[in-house]
Amino acid sequence: MQLRKRVLVTGGAGFLGSHLCERLIAAGNDVLCVDNYFTGTKDNIAGLLKDNHFEAMRQDVTFPLYVEVDEIFNLACPASPIHYQFDPVATTKTSVHGAINMLGLAKRVKAKIMQASTSEVYGDPIEHPQTESYRGNVNPVGPRACYDEGKRCAETLFFDYHRQHRVRIKVARIFNTYGPRMHPNDGRVVSNFVLQALRGQPITLYGSGSQTRAFCYVDDLIEGFLRLMATGDDFTGPVNLGNPMEIPVKELAERIIKLTGSSSTLIYKPLPQDDPTQRCPDITLAKSKLGWEPTVPLETGLKRTIDYFRAFV
Ligand code: NAD
Ligand code: UDP
Repeated sequence: MQLRKRVLVTGGAGFLGSHLCERLIAAGNDVLCVDNYFTGTKDNIAGLLKDNHFEAMRQDVTFPLYVEVDEIFNLACPASPIHYQFDPVATTKTSVHGAINMLGLAKRVKAKIMQASTSEVYGDPIEHPQTESYRGNVNPVGPRACYDEGKRCAETLFFDYHRQHRVRIKVARIFNTYGPRMHPNDGRVVSNFVLQALRGQPITLYGSGSQTRAFCYVDDLIEGFLRLMATGDDFTGPVNLGNPMEIPVKELAERIIKLTGSSSTLIYKPLPQDDPTQRCPDITLAKSKLGWEPTVPLETGLKRTIDYFRAFV
């Protein structure tokens, strides 16, 4: 007799996936983590491996997967520009073939499935803050397209499987999220700045540093995932999940310098092509449908992240 919910997390050994697996195990589920360890590590899930209800499987989501589960969180995909541009063709395949395989699995076993989509579907947004109805401003042939268009196509597949095959879908559009277990070499702004500050190296601002982002602490985001998965079948999203506290990247650098007590200076580097100039979620929908909003202040989240990264210095 099956007592526990069987939950599959693809990309479960990554930054977000490992936090999600932890929450799912703590809530008494049976968790299957599927990962090809491209950017995720076994270290991220080491603490879970001793639990009988946690299982790790090396598998690439671009290949079909035959398992029996009740819910699927589809997170497998490199997420930082450095990692997703390393092998752009593989990135698009991961999003598109991965979505087809996981949706096919959900269809066969009648599982509910959540897609980890992204604010990158809005590209370099002209509407600000971004609501879910905004259709975006993506360059389809630029260096970010392998990720942005892959994720857009995955959303299309989710909605077509829903309309055509009645698969129960949930689409989360995740905005910049940070916290412990971010990959130290992923080049994302929080991990870069924290490590540079802790090492006393110059902080690398791309462009003028006036571009904005809004940073969500990982625990808040995972709570949003769980609430989204728990919604009734009539709610599919897409729904923005992020912290609407928007700040310029330069101000983030100054805050991290202050919190670390670092002597680092600021240096300016060229702005990467197609780097969005502003990004901030409108989370009205998440508030009303999920009763969710972030609760961890930036300073608290940054302090926890800084403590995590001390071991890498
Ligand atoms: P991450 O790189 O730490 O995690 C991705 C995981 O997927 C890794 O463990 C990696 O090894 C695995 N993976 C990659 N390709 C795979 C494949 N073909 N088959 C199996 N596993 C594969 O990144 P993250 O920040 O934890 O992101 C998780 C998901 O959330 C991604 O889908 C990402 O696009 C999305 N997302 C994250 C953010 C963020 O700010 N962290 C923002 C928007 C969207
Ligand atoms: N950025 C920066 N210095 C760095 C890394 C990133 O100024 O060392 C900038 C980057 O150009 C972007 C923002 O910080 O404007 C966020 O970058 P990240 O790669 O974390 O995520 P994005 O939101 O661009 O996907």
